[in-house]
Amino acid sequence: MAELIRDAAERAARYLEDIQERRVRPSAEAVDGLAQFVEPMPDGPTDPQEVLRLLDEIGSPGTTGMAGPRFFGFVIGGALPAALAANWLSSAWDQNAGLFAATPVGTVLEEVSLAWLLDVLGLPAGSGAAFVTGGTMANFTALAAARNSVLRRVGWEVERDGLFGAPSIEVLVGGEAHPSLRKSLGMLGMGRERLTNVPVDGQGRMIAEQFPDLHGPAIVCIQAGNVNTGSFDPAHEICERAHAAGAWVHVDGAFGLWAAASPALAHLAAGVNEADSWATDAHKWLNVPYDSGLAFVRDPATLRAAMGITAAYLPEGAHREPSHYTPELSRRARGVEIWAAMKSLGRSGLAEMIERDCRCAARFAAGLTAAGFEILNDVVLNQVLVSFGSPEVNARVIEAVQEEGTCWCGPTLWQGRTAMRISVSSWRTTEADVDKSLAAIVRVAR
Ligand SMILES: *Cc1c(COP(=O)(O)O)cnc(C)c1O
Repeated sequence: MAELIRDAAERAARYLEDIQERRVRPSAEAVDGLAQFVEPMPDGPTDPQEVLRLLDEIGSPGTTGMAGPRFFGFVIGGALPAALAANWLSSAWDQNAGLFAATPVGTVLEEVSLAWLLDVLGLPAGSGAAFVTGGTMANFTALAAARNSVLRRVGWEVERDGLFGAPSIEVLVGGEAHPSLRKSLGMLGMGRERLTNVPVDGQGRMIAEQFPDLHGPAIVCIQAGNVNTGSFDPAHEICERAHAAGAWVHVDGAFGLWAAASPALAHLAAGVNEADSWATDAHKWLNVPYDSGLAFVRDPATLRAAMGITAAYLPEGAHREPSHYTPELSRRARGVEIWAAMKSLGRSGLAEMIERDCRCAARFAAGLTAAGFEILNDVVLNQVLVSFGSPEVNARVIEAVQEEGTCWCGPTLWQGRTAMRISVSSWRTTEADVDKSLAAIVRVAR
């Protein structure tokens, strides 16, 4: 076993060295080469060393360089060294993180990292939290607590009686809510199509003045960081209006919530901490390995009521039981990597990483503007939308940028216009990477 693990570490180290310079999109030959994996279930065993060799020799070339410094697609962070190393060690531990009795270390590191997270994100101390797979599940988890809580206030117990015959809930979302938020609401029985869409401005921000009057149980979903523009909904105004009407406010802050960890950017997230629940991704801007999302709920009892495995509200022991707060019972110990990332960065390192990525985004916008291309958004955070011309031209440029291989950016649709989206979300990205990528993009586009 030890030799195999060392071999895996050697191969991984080599991969992470190569990724600095290799093309970001895998070559067509490498993708075709993945066909070598396709075979009927083998009748007998294969030596683990051989299994690893196949994985590295066929699999590694078929990866996209997301762990490298010049992947700017979606909103995808790299994995910090300490977080990746912690992930390996905790995989060796193979702890089931559901219960304190099963994994003391997993539970303690969740407790510690939860307190640190609430602190750096500026959220109320003592909030409840779930360590889940990603933003989609974090929204789902927090919104389950929201749904049950607003119905409990009108005398309906969802946990006990389900939803058939329940009073209806009005659910408000911004017109530019993330598609996965609609999915999360759909999974909770609140419908993807029966949501009230609040009009938004040219940056995708909810227009607070157009916020409708609310009567009866209601949930308002606001956004900290629009996936295209990086913009923030006016949280303070909306929380004030929503709370006056007795509504629950939930924040989808998959990446934008991390702005609160930077003194220079925290003003963007002003008022966000007045909400009742929040969702964010650790695998985005905290740069821990996949998969890792976080749901926070101001009143831990509501989260616990929605997610506890027993209906009875048992008193907590000396330690927080992780599975009382998550959809899953058995799961991996995500708190380990979150703790390692935050311990290795410290408050200053985290702020510096977020700020550097935002500086790099601004540098992209300035370089593209100087080259004569149109930036479609106010670059307030780490997201940049650029148009090179007609939809056909944009599609061709994006394909050619990916094929050229220096960097990777994807397409998007923003308020009826096509664009290329650049998201800077990795600890590895430097200004030199931006300049190298800018040169490639401008050359290809011209
Ligand atoms: C990425 C993202 C999500 C979904 O998160 P996953 O981790 O991919 O499930 C939700 N909302 C916003 C704003 C996002 O950027």
